[in-house]
Amino acid sequence: VPFSFIGPEEILRKKKEYMIPCVYHFYQQPMQLVRGEMQYLYDHTGKKYLDCFAGVSVVNCGHCNPEITAAICQQVNTLQHTCTIYLTEQIVSLAEKLAQVTPGRLRKSFFCASGTEANEGAALLASLYTGHSEFISLRQGLHGRTKLTMGLTGLRLWRTDPSPAGGISFAPNAYCYRCPFKLKHPECDYQCANELENVIQTATSGQVAAFFAETIQGNGGIITPPYGYFKRVKEILDRHGILLVIDEVQTGFGRTGAMFAIEHYGVEPDIMTMAKALGNGTPVGAFIARSEIADKYTRPGASTLGGNPVTSAAALATLAVIEKENLPARAKHLGKKLKDGLLRLQEKYPVIGDVRGLGLMLGAELVHADQSPAPELTDQVLESCKDRGILIGKNGLERNVLAFQPPLVISEEDINYLLNTLDLALGKQ
Ligand code: PMP
Repeated sequence: VPFSFIGPEEILRKKKEYMIPCVYHFYQQPMQLVRGEMQYLYDHTGKKYLDCFAGVSVVNCGHCNPEITAAICQQVNTLQHTCTIYLTEQIVSLAEKLAQVTPGRLRKSFFCASGTEANEGAALLASLYTGHSEFISLRQGLHGRTKLTMGLTGLRLWRTDPSPAGGISFAPNAYCYRCPFKLKHPECDYQCANELENVIQTATSGQVAAFFAETIQGNGGIITPPYGYFKRVKEILDRHGILLVIDEVQTGFGRTGAMFAIEHYGVEPDIMTMAKALGNGTPVGAFIARSEIADKYTRPGASTLGGNPVTSAAALATLAVIEKENLPARAKHLGKKLKDGLLRLQEKYPVIGDVRGLGLMLGAELVHADQSPAPELTDQVLESCKDRGILIGKNGLERNVLAFQPPLVISEEDINYLLNTLDLALGKQ
């Protein structure tokens, strides 16, 4: 069936008329995307874009990766859906595979269809295991859009709930560029992590089930904690019997130069959540826990669509591609090239206040001369890159951080093109 390209104006009209307005979009004059091929996207006029945002860290293996597409098509043509009340092979093969690729003793999985659900489920499991109902999360974190996960979210823009879930306290994040304690690493001795002790003592009843954190805060502005941060956090949590839930929804599956970003910190989470890149664009999410914790969840808890044969087959094919192509190593190598390039641009353009991140999850925080956030400039760079055929992201508390999270199949030439384009976009300001 040929596509009919109704065009961006008509899409915007229908969106306004028929969709709930919280679903927002980028760009003053958004284009209609109609086709994807690995690291490239095409709009309805045939214009080609280098995708440096990957649908927010989703298509790590590239758009319409032929191996993943073939696995999906084969499964769609054989058995699409049955529900977990019947036995099928794909879901258990995926669970077995996740036990192999996740760190430490993480072993038993539950499958759902999104990152939000994965975090919601992880919170429930933590409560079942500890018998406690309070949570702590980080300022500037994002964990989802449901009542509880939005309550765990520490970013004003994403907290639209006028009566957020209670029983949640916030700890300071490891935002070294704007350290809440005005300290410098390493002399700070991880004051932000130490502060967790204070939060437990002063803001909670002591009955805390879990502490939630993204390894690198994505929407928060690619906030990348220094090496020893999570070790210190885990020591404090262990002393209080609080579980560590690591949200790898945005950082997982090779993006940061390791299969999961928490591996860089040498810490074993008690529960880990994932989605986005797990299915390379198909809706599959999961939380995984140590057996001792997972085994507390015994009463029926099925998800109708979670881990169905098609999304499980997609995830299995995605993991096969990540391993075969050694995408974590590729992200590490190309990420270094991109980061070095961004650091060179920082020398040339003082508006780049900070460059941070790991692998191909990088951010450049744009600031005025007095270091105050520069969101208007960030928008201008975003628009200018789009005009020149490059899609990048923006995030951060003040929406002033350029985010680079391309498909991991991106090439060195693409990175050079991105850096040259940024040079032109920043030079124009
Ligand atoms: N956690 C993190 C770290 C995320 O970035 C997101 C989505 N941006 C979510 C959870 C929620 O995932 P989903 O949109 O799949 O529900």
